[in-house]
Amino acid sequence: MGKTYVVVAEVRGGSLRQVTLEALQAVSIACQEGDSTAAILIGSQTTKLASELAGYVDGKIYSIDHPELEIYNPETYLNVMKSVFERVTPDVVVLGHTAQGRDLGPAIAAHLGAGQISDVIAIEKSDDDEAVYTRPLYAGKAFEQKQFTGGAQVVTIRPNNINPSEAAASAGEVIELEYAPSASLRSIVKDVVRKTSGKVDLTEAKIVVSGGRGVKSAEGFKPLEELADVLHGAVGASRAACDAGYCDYSMQIGQTGKVVTPEIYIACGISGAIQHLAGMSQSRVIIAINKDPEAPIFKVADYGIVGDLFEVVPLLTQEFRKV
Ligand code: FAD
Repeated sequence: MGKTYVVVAEVRGGSLRQVTLEALQAVSIACQEGDSTAAILIGSQTTKLASELAGYVDGKIYSIDHPELEIYNPETYLNVMKSVFERVTPDVVVLGHTAQGRDLGPAIAAHLGAGQISDVIAIEKSDDDEAVYTRPLYAGKAFEQKQFTGGAQVVTIRPNNINPSEAAASAGEVIELEYAPSASLRSIVKDVVRKTSGKVDLTEAKIVVSGGRGVKSAEGFKPLEELADVLHGAVGASRAACDAGYCDYSMQIGQTGKVVTPEIYIACGISGAIQHLAGMSQSRVIIAINKDPEAPIFKVADYGIVGDLFEVVPLLTQEFRKV
């Protein structure tokens, strides 16, 4: 009998996160003939999203819709997942390697007694048609390829690395399940205060304009914000810039911050410390703007501009406005 893959959809701001479509694509790469796919959608007012998801999933979509599920809560979401697993026994559960996926994945793995491979950036097939998962190690300096040897499996997919699935012609079947609150619930999430004001989610942005200590002040981030706006990108930062109070820690990229893999990463006034590279070295194209020609960031950059960021960034914005 074939394996059952279950993708856990993630909702943000009333929309499906792109990483959900990437997880579905990951499943279609990993699948063998005879395998099946299902999805779980948890949230509030999910009817429209469930039918959207049905365009991508050639299988069942378990939709659990309740106002109490609007905000992610590890306890409630895990309880809901457990109730879905009474109807569908997954062989492989696939989630985004997001804050939510990183939290929920291990809890699901513990519940299912499954093994987990996290932060997957690519999937190939072995000679015997089994999925081989690639994940970065040592801050992106090395990669390892892993395979499951059996049993239940949980996989998390790093956003922006696998092309998103495209809507299929065949429609999936939406199954709406009742939400039954657990009497033993110990925590309630009342609100989520988002500190990032950016219009584009940093971890899913196709273009990231990032500033470091060289930006010198909170005011200094304005030209970077303008460039990011013109490029429909997001603004990130080094830890030094966050530590100096130029911007919020939610913008920090690196070993102890967010990991981003945009198509274009523009590093402005960032030296290129190993801890920063850990969060951005997998970007497709890296452009560095730094006035020090010896700055280590130039070693990883595809394009380098030796100059003052306060001159270069506004010039780039001006030119991109013309496009
Ligand atoms: P600097 O290293 O001070 O570099 C500033 C750069 O700006 C210089 O190269 C300079 O030439 C350039 N510059 C100055 N003025 C201009 C100008 N006008 N125009 C153009 N260029 C200019 N760091 C992270 O970023 N993310 C992390 O997650 C992270 N985690 C860490 C975890 C640990 C355990 C430790 C020990 C450190 C961590 N760090 C992290 C800190 C890291 O080691 C570096 O200190 C930090 O990345 C440096 O930030 P920076 O490049 O902005 O600053």
